Amino acid sequence: MATARKDYGDNEHSILYAETNGCCPLCLKPILFRKPNSGRLSKGYEVAHIYPLNPTLAQATALVGRAPPTNVNALENVVALCPTCHTRYDTDFQLEEMDKLSGIKNRFLANARANATISDYMIEDEVYAILDSISSLAGDDLDVPPTSFDATTVDKKLRTGMSPLQRLEIKTYAVNFYVRIRDQIRMLEQNDQVAIRMLQNQVNTYYLAMQQQSPDNKDAIFNFVAQWISTRTGRPLLAAKVLTSFFVQNCEVFDAGP
Ligand SMILES: [Zn+2]
Repeated sequence: MATARKDYGDNEHSILYAETNGCCPLCLKPILFRKPNSGRLSKGYEVAHIYPLNPTLAQATALVGRAPPTNVNALENVVALCPTCHTRYDTDFQLEEMDKLSGIKNRFLANARANATISDYMIEDEVYAILDSISSLAGDDLDVPPTSFDATTVDKKLRTGMSPLQRLEIKTYAVNFYVRIRDQIRMLEQNDQVAIRMLQNQVNTYYLAMQQQSPDNKDAIFNFVAQWISTRTGRPLLAAKVLTSFFVQNCEVFDAGP
């Protein structure tokens, strides 16, 4: 018997629209647009099932060996697509495209989970001074990397579960900024040791929270922590990434696995 299509309500549409950042995830065209005459906004997307709702014969053949999701109508199995991509996806169904769309949807879900926690995790005011001094480094300060930095720890920490590019980014920031940030933290500690301890704990706690949400994706964990610091403080994401790289050194999330 055919499974009935769910009628998605306004709140569900809000979620499905927002997670796409307003673009069809397959062709990247906007999925809300203004009508030329009235200027009114029109919805330019449809709710598409990633695993087909009621597979056609061709779809069923392609899907052999792939178990359907527990609830095919769940928000986790639907995504907003423009009508053109939706029709093409369904009529010219390809397993590779389903996997691609599942990957995109999983990223949407991980982002949403991370964003939902940003307001729950506080961060000490001392972080502003550190981020501002990272941002205000002059060009010639950066020409001479500090020599007293030993990259062994960071190499060890990043050995597993991270993409080479992400590893390089973190290592570059660590080599260039570790000593500067460490010295500044020592200075701030002289004024308020407890606040600095709290800041370190807060960052580590958020690292752990993100690890719990995305256990197999250290790239994502790193970027979610940086995003949290940047969003909470209103400071540039780049400065937040530099600081997040600093905290990798002392973070158990990056301890090498077996
Ligand atoms: Zn499209």
